[in-house]
Amino acid sequence: MKAINSINNIPLHYARLVNHPYGTRGEQRQFSIDSNFLKVLESAFDEVFTNCPLGVPEVVTTAGIFVNKPGQHGHGTAFDLDAVFWKDHTLVSKNFIHQKELYLGIESFLRKHFGIVLNYYYRGHEDHWHVDTSVPVDYHEASKSETLYLQMVLKYIYGKPVIIDGLSGPQTRSYTHDVFHRLNISTPITTKDNYLKFLDITGKVAYKLSEEKTTPLQLLENLETVVNQLPSANKHVVIGALNTFMDNVDTAAWLNEMTHNHDLDAVIDAVLAS
Ligand SMILES: [Zn+2]
Repeated sequence: MKAINSINNIPLHYARLVNHPYGTRGEQRQFSIDSNFLKVLESAFDEVFTNCPLGVPEVVTTAGIFVNKPGQHGHGTAFDLDAVFWKDHTLVSKNFIHQKELYLGIESFLRKHFGIVLNYYYRGHEDHWHVDTSVPVDYHEASKSETLYLQMVLKYIYGKPVIIDGLSGPQTRSYTHDVFHRLNISTPITTKDNYLKFLDITGKVAYKLSEEKTTPLQLLENLETVVNQLPSANKHVVIGALNTFMDNVDTAAWLNEMTHNHDLDAVIDAVLAS
């Protein structure tokens, strides 16, 4: 075990306190960590931030590394990533809906290093990524957390209308096949080499998309995603209000003038050519 307060010179902060609540930069702390696990974390952070268009951040907040409880945290071999703070930008993991591209860019590179990554859609992990090395890096259809990630990038990065439920079936397999073909990656995804290539290219595509300007149409989509997560009693009222807004003649005319400026094919071609 080692005690650290930074990783690759990026200060590690704690922000789960009354005076330093979740979502703030918090305060720098010492964390106990297993030395071998630290090496993995260092190479993961290196790859995540070398590729990231925002560069190396000023602060990373963590909910903990060594925590006195059963499981990987009890050995100092797991890391909970809450948020990342650059000079003028912040990614708080709980804001996934509003920063899907940046979030999934980071996660794609994390997945190249950690066999276990639990994200926003994995129960209990709405407000942090949990990463550990208790299993090797690969893709198994039976893995709920891996399939959730796959479905999230199929939908939010590659625009495939897949259902995000963590269960792999004919729909997920068919969209995966289409995307692998578009990216010139051999199938199946369950071969480690193919999976690693997919993670790498997807990370780069997601990062490039994260640099594009957000359109009002995307904001409207985010709103729909949020509304769909509401308890059903409230949902119908909000959907009713939203539909009335969208069906209004003036609103419809305004929305019709807009187009998505995401040119996914151009972004994919640029990444494949680099
Ligand atoms: Zn954890």
